[in-house]
Amino acid sequence: MEFNNYTIKELSSLLRNKEISAVELTEMYLKRIKAKDVQINSFITVCEDTAREMARKAQQAIDRGEVGQLAGIPVSVKDNICTTQIPTTCASKMLENFVSPFDATAVDRLKNNYAVMLGKTNMDEFAIGCTSQRSVFGGVKNPHSTDFSPGGSSGGAAAGVAAGFCAAALGSDTGGSVRQPAALCGVTGLRPTYGTVSRYGLVAFASSFDQIGPIARSAEDCGILLSAIAGKDFYDNTTVELANTEYNSKIGSSIKGLTIGVPAEFFGEEIDDEVKTIVMNAAKQYESMGCTLKEVSLPSFKYALSAYYLISSAEASSNMGRYDGIKFGYRSLNGDTYDELIKNTRTEAFGDEVKRRIMLGNYVLSKENYNALFVKSQQVRAKIKEDFKNIFDTCDCIITPTTPHSAYKIGELESTPVKMYSANICTVPVSVAGLPAINTPCGYDKNGMPVGMSIVGRAFDESTIIMLADAFERSFVRREPAI
Ligand code: GLN
Repeated sequence: MEFNNYTIKELSSLLRNKEISAVELTEMYLKRIKAKDVQINSFITVCEDTAREMARKAQQAIDRGEVGQLAGIPVSVKDNICTTQIPTTCASKMLENFVSPFDATAVDRLKNNYAVMLGKTNMDEFAIGCTSQRSVFGGVKNPHSTDFSPGGSSGGAAAGVAAGFCAAALGSDTGGSVRQPAALCGVTGLRPTYGTVSRYGLVAFASSFDQIGPIARSAEDCGILLSAIAGKDFYDNTTVELANTEYNSKIGSSIKGLTIGVPAEFFGEEIDDEVKTIVMNAAKQYESMGCTLKEVSLPSFKYALSAYYLISSAEASSNMGRYDGIKFGYRSLNGDTYDELIKNTRTEAFGDEVKRRIMLGNYVLSKENYNALFVKSQQVRAKIKEDFKNIFDTCDCIITPTTPHSAYKIGELESTPVKMYSANICTVPVSVAGLPAINTPCGYDKNGMPVGMSIVGRAFDESTIIMLADAFERSFVRREPAI
């Protein structure tokens, strides 16, 4: 019996009913990774021994009756989320041998829930990218067809879940890196409201956007993971005291009478016709379930991509400043002076796209450009927030495509940065506004590649979007990749 297509909920009941042990389940997943991940390259590190040890402890907890739904569930963690004993490489030569002295808060909370960590997943270097090809460990492939990219930057996380290498995963989303790869791999992925999940131990890319988010086989499973990792953390002052972290509490409630906003700008000429049709049909399905669709507008949509790339690059250039070859990580053997050492270290250990963002960020923050680019982008950010607020005055949520196209062929976006940046055109407005959004698969294109829709919610109202995604998933038939 193989359990690789099972949800957390299903696995959890098998474990609880003693139909399988946590150790057996872990062995089953490890075996599948060993046999099949050569085709996908979704893991950077598989930590077999630690996983077995965690599974033993999980089984003891299950036997004692301490059975939270995550106990004994095999999960993966993106390789920019710090873990003790196991390397956290950020898919970069810079951190190739880096082992963190502490666990990220999200990892700590998974451990407290007795989840079993199988390993660390592949990604774009420092989470900068949309294709998961910019990894020093080689690119990730889409399990639905290995000619295609899985999206990024959490491509290893999404591909791993789609391929049945783990039941669920932690990814990170700055401008779309949980939602976009989830869409392109045909799985569910949730970006939480900024401030919901601690960033302590998440290697910083753009600090005012970064959030850790779950990727799983259902909206309900995303809710299970989010409920475990969310909430105030002493080590991250941007986390918020949350009244309710039971994110699945609304699942199964009636969605009749809810108003869903459909913003015209997200269905414009940049979006592929096939994607538009599939997402619109999904929206109409909500209508048949008793929701009202309302045409709305996000006038600032056209400025969101620029504002996001300018602000996030400014923040990235500052965050990358810690890699100087002195404190930790890679150190060049060349250079007689301090300045030369830093320069050579960065030249040798950062990839092209990371260097491009550092240069763009420094340009944005330079004295001559600061007002015209950085300050202006922050004004755009305020405007985008206001536009969303206006929509939420009359709507309970918003539906948009998650990506402008289904998966791209591997290599297709690599040489054209602007085209690559546009792959996030539908996800960045939500990131800029700090709102929550969930991607759920809603169809397949002519090549059989998945298409996803995003349901965007009010700030801290993850439970409504989880309920809505779940309502759709109940009748949607997912296709399992033939791997
Ligand atoms: N693709 C976007 C970027 O390169 C978003 C990445 C992310 O969300 N981590 O900035």
